[in-house]
Amino acid sequence: MESINVFSYYPKCKFCQFVFPRTLFVLILVMSQFMIMAQKPKSITVGNIVAEAGTKVSGILQVPKGVDQGTIIPVTVINGIKPGPVLALIAGIHGTEYVPIITLQRMLKEIDPNELAGSIIMVHIANITSFNERRIYYNPVDGKNLNRVFPGNRIGTITERIAEIITKVIIDQSIYLIDLHGGELNENILNFCSFEYNCTDNLVCEKTKFLAHSFGDYYFLPESFKTVPDSVKYTYCHLTAIRRGIPAIFVESGGSGNTDISSILYMEQGITNVLRALKMIKGEVKESNPVVYLSNENMIESNVDGLFFSRIVCGQTVAKGSLLGYVTDYFGNHITDFYSPLTGIVEMSYSTPVVNKGEDVFWVAEIKDIFKQ
Ligand SMILES: [Zn+2]
Repeated sequence: MESINVFSYYPKCKFCQFVFPRTLFVLILVMSQFMIMAQKPKSITVGNIVAEAGTKVSGILQVPKGVDQGTIIPVTVINGIKPGPVLALIAGIHGTEYVPIITLQRMLKEIDPNELAGSIIMVHIANITSFNERRIYYNPVDGKNLNRVFPGNRIGTITERIAEIITKVIIDQSIYLIDLHGGELNENILNFCSFEYNCTDNLVCEKTKFLAHSFGDYYFLPESFKTVPDSVKYTYCHLTAIRRGIPAIFVESGGSGNTDISSILYMEQGITNVLRALKMIKGEVKESNPVVYLSNENMIESNVDGLFFSRIVCGQTVAKGSLLGYVTDYFGNHITDFYSPLTGIVEMSYSTPVVNKGEDVFWVAEIKDIFKQ
C-alpha cells in the first residue's frame, strides 16, 4: 500500500510545498526551546540579589533615604536545584526577638540548595534599626511598629518603607510565608503557632491551616481576627500576605532577650517540618501529639505606670480570678493587681519591672480543645 506524503498529496499547492513545512519546523523549534526552558531550573531575583538554581546568595536590600534616614535589610535566597514553591521566612520584624534571627542563621548553614526543591527567601533582620538600638516594639526613628504598617508606603517613613520593600520584593513572589516572632526583651512567651481560619479565600484558609499544622507544636492559636478592625488587621505582615493570596502563619518562640537552644530548636524543627510537608526537602513530617487549641485570648493591660511584679510563670495554667501579678509605685507601695479573667493558660507575661500605662502585661487564653491525632 502506498503511503501518503502530505507534501506530495497536494503537489500543486504552494502552501503545502513551502509555507506549511517551514512553519511546522519553526513551531517545533519554538516548542522544543520552551520545553528546554521549562526543564531548566530558574534563577530567582530578590531586589539586587540573584540566586541561580543550586545556589544560596546573601545580600543587602537597601531602603533608600526618604522623609527620614534609610536603612538596610539583610536577606538570603536559597534557590533549590529542583522546581518547587517559594517560602518566605521573615525574622526580626521586632528588633529584640532574637530566637527567630538566630534560627535563620543556623538554617542558612544547614540547608543545601542541591537537596532543595523550590526556594527559600530569608529576611534575617527586617527591622535592623530596632535591632541595633535594642528597641522593643517600635522603630526608634519614627516610633512605628513594623507589624502594624504593612503593606507599607514607598513615600512614608522608614518603617513604612521597610514594609513596602518586603511586600513588593518578597511577599509578592512567595507561595507561602512564615512570620517568625518571640517575646521582646521585656516579655516571656509561650511557644505557639497562630493562624487565621476565617479568611475570605477558602483555599488560602485551608493551605494556611495546613502550614500551621505542618509547623506543628502542642499549642495552636486559630484566630478569627473578627474583633480586630480591618484597618489594623491588614497591617500585620502575615495577614497582609493572606490578603494577597499567600498562605501565611505567625509563630512565637523565645523571649526576654534569651537565645536558649530549646526555643531555637522549637522554631528550627517547625520550619523543617514545613519544608518536609511542602516536599521542599526529604524527610518525614513529625506530627504533634496531642494538639492543644487556644481560644478567647485576653490581653490584660496595665492602667498605671510603675514597677511590675509577676506572680506566675509563662505557660502556667491559671483559674479564673487567680492573682497574676501587681504593680507598685516608684516607692514600693502596692497600687494595683492583675487577675485572670478566665481559666486557661498564660501565653505571655512581662519579665521586667518597667510598666507603662496602656501596655499588655499578660495574655491569657482558654484551652479550647485537646485531642490525639
Ligand atoms: Zn514580634
